Amino acid sequence: MKYKIIIYGCQMNKSDSERIAAVLENIGYQPVNKPEQADLIIVNMCSVRQSAVDRVYGLFSKSKIKNQKSKIQIKNKKIILTGCILPTDRKNLENKVDLIFNIKDLPILPKLLSEKGGISLRPQLFSTSQCNNYFSIPPLLTSPVSAYVPIMTGCNNFCAYCVVPYVRGEEISRPAQEIIEEVKKLIKKGYKEIILLGQNVNRYRSPTNYEFNTNIRITNINFAKLLQLINDLPGKFWLRFITSHPKDLSDELIEIMAKSEKITEYLHLPVQSGDDVILQKMNRGYTVKDYKKLIGKIRDKIRMISISTDIIVGFPGETKKEFKQTVKLMKWAKFDMIYIAQYSPRPMTAACQLKDDVIKKEKKRREQILNRILEKTALKNNKKYINKTIEVLIEQTPHHCKFGMGQAKNDFCLGKTKTFKNVKIKDLKGSLRVGRFVKIKIIKATPWGLE
Ligand code: SAH
Ligand code: SF4
Repeated sequence: MKYKIIIYGCQMNKSDSERIAAVLENIGYQPVNKPEQADLIIVNMCSVRQSAVDRVYGLFSKSKIKNQKSKIQIKNKKIILTGCILPTDRKNLENKVDLIFNIKDLPILPKLLSEKGGISLRPQLFSTSQCNNYFSIPPLLTSPVSAYVPIMTGCNNFCAYCVVPYVRGEEISRPAQEIIEEVKKLIKKGYKEIILLGQNVNRYRSPTNYEFNTNIRITNINFAKLLQLINDLPGKFWLRFITSHPKDLSDELIEIMAKSEKITEYLHLPVQSGDDVILQKMNRGYTVKDYKKLIGKIRDKIRMISISTDIIVGFPGETKKEFKQTVKLMKWAKFDMIYIAQYSPRPMTAACQLKDDVIKKEKKRREQILNRILEKTALKNNKKYINKTIEVLIEQTPHHCKFGMGQAKNDFCLGKTKTFKNVKIKDLKGSLRVGRFVKIKIIKATPWGLE
């Protein structure tokens, strides 16, 4: 029996999919690259924007939907749906698929497949894991170099536009003990980049007391302390994390980032808007002044830091004047990367009560303006690397690649800097290997990377 997981959405969905794969392979399923070759298709859904939801509906509609490159032939296949699903979509899709399951029920997936999904499995296979916590299922990692490690799930922030608290539920942190054990195993296996995941990692708090090295008892582990504990594990690796909410980023965290060798000089700090009225309507809990002060503090302590952000253009009622405030902030902050989203009304959220009054064409125009600024600031930032010799982690060679896709071409290798910049590397001696750290000299910069 063969399976294919189709992933929409963020790193959390990618990470969850690695645990789904582990459960499926444990009951005898084998992975295939193309959905057409699969007997079982798992769709790991995202609801953050309507476009992502439309793609899932597109799988079942008779006509091809806009931007949908390929439509899967789902006849004679079992289709299972999971991920971030709104109750209305759940209801609408219920009759189109064989099973919808909550990711938290992953430990009992074999039982659900058998009892509700119409897949006959021997009951001996039902208990894939003794645990009732899906995070403790060891994942089947897709990359030999980088590993996602979820440290929490859910969110309590209720930003006015965001569906996450409704589809992922309330914020829950994993015990520090469990996270550290998982990271230790990854390091032992040779992983070189550990990426901690959470909707708002700055709110991490270990639910239990944690005993480290038996003689040191540390209680009340917050995110800064968790980072420090992971940083102090022996071995050469880089430690990244996403996502940080600006309102919860503490001075303690900045201090620990600045002094810990393995924590990378990279921060994803979504600002969403550069206007105070919009920020307040979004329920973000900070002002532009607060955000600028925070960036100032971070850059002051971590000189080489590269900072990326998320922006929503066309939030309900966003005037041209308010948008100009975002432009102003962009120019001031000189981000290394911006992930720009056109506002998409989401059911259940507070902003859904407001009129989505910025027309599509204007949202697109605002997006293009920000993209042009990004191109300039990112290029300027990247040019600072020229003629510098820096450490790079090799992710792909022409023969081997990080996520088993998108081969590096023409004798170039691909890697990342500690500051999360893509680097194209000419392998002069043909000696570079995936997962190695190498010192290389930068000769060229573009807005999207280095050479
Ligand atoms: N936890 C992260 C965000 C998770 S959602 C944080 O707090 O930043 C990822 C991104 O999707 C958000 O940062 C936002 O820019 C975008 N997004 C969320 N809801 C959206 C909506 N309704 N319309 C457009 N973009 C949205
Ligand atoms: Fe959504 Fe806000 Fe939570 Fe991020 S912090 S997941 S944007 S509600």
